[in-house]
Amino acid sequence: AKASGQKGYAFFETSMNSDAHEQMQIARELRVASARGELTLHYQPKFDAPNGPVIGAEALLRWSHPTLGMILPGHFIPIAEKTGLIVPIGEWVLDEACRQMRAWHDAGHPQWTIAVNLSAVQFGHDGLIELVRGTLARHALAPRFLTLEITESTAMSDVEASLATLQQLKDMGVNISIDDFGTGYSSLLYLKRLPATELKIDKGFVRDLAIGTEDAAIVSAIVALGQTLNLKIVAEGVETAAQKAFLTRIGCDSLQGFMLGEPMPAKEFIEAVAQDPAS
Ligand code: C2E
Ligand code: CA
Ligand code: CA
Ligand code: CA
Repeated sequence: AKASGQKGYAFFETSMNSDAHEQMQIARELRVASARGELTLHYQPKFDAPNGPVIGAEALLRWSHPTLGMILPGHFIPIAEKTGLIVPIGEWVLDEACRQMRAWHDAGHPQWTIAVNLSAVQFGHDGLIELVRGTLARHALAPRFLTLEITESTAMSDVEASLATLQQLKDMGVNISIDDFGTGYSSLLYLKRLPATELKIDKGFVRDLAIGTEDAAIVSAIVALGQTLNLKIVAEGVETAAQKAFLTRIGCDSLQGFMLGEPMPAKEFIEAVAQDPAS
């Protein structure tokens, strides 16, 4: 499925070096795609460390293109951000993810939480607070069941504005996760002021843990820092038993990764979890 974005049109090859014309073409297709219902969400389970149960899911956007197959967000989100299309798409993602979590609560998993990724463009958009409040209300979902993931660089891009927006979300009772943590340049002073509830260690650090690099020391330092600031620590990109053992030993609260569960359609997600005795 991962290769499916590569077989067709040149304009999907990379979003970084494609010219303006190609980007407009993708934007045009994307607008049609969302109207036709070609956007879908996959859900990746998040596990209590070390051995479960499942405590929730992260919603990850997919484009099921009629001829190209499944296209991953790296191929189209940068263009959706540039053109502003990410705002309506992001509204749909939030609505659909909350709708799904309401259904799972009703189906016997009333403690699960849903994590939704927010791009910098959405984060800076005026209507965000009301959008979140309205969406939660529409699905009768209490705010504590929603986690909004923003990257460290998004949170850093306009510090004072970010702090105000995050504080409003936190006051509402929504969880705030700082995604890709360790890849930005947060000062510790700033991190201390951030009204976050969770740090998500970037998978780039997790990947190289086993080969005895400095990454083990960096990850240990991130975990210690997060614990000092009373934040939950999540590790993403867990692919091996050795990574899982290390991350658990240094005190990560929860784990995500291909080894534990890949992103999958809602129907497969619930079937996979039903077979897991810990959940
Ligand atoms: P992210 O938020 O850091 O999401 C984690 C990415 O790592 C996902 O890629 C996921 O499929 C992948 N992943 C999960 N476990 C493993 C593992 O064990 N090993 C490796 N190598 N990768 C793993 P995906 O789904 O392609 O998403 C890429 C990025 O696109 C996301 O990174 C996020 O920044 C963005 N994105 C996805 N969905 C949305 C969305 O609905 N809205 C916005 N604004 N951004 C989204
Ligand atoms: Ca994320
Ligand atoms: Ca991440
Ligand atoms: Ca990432």
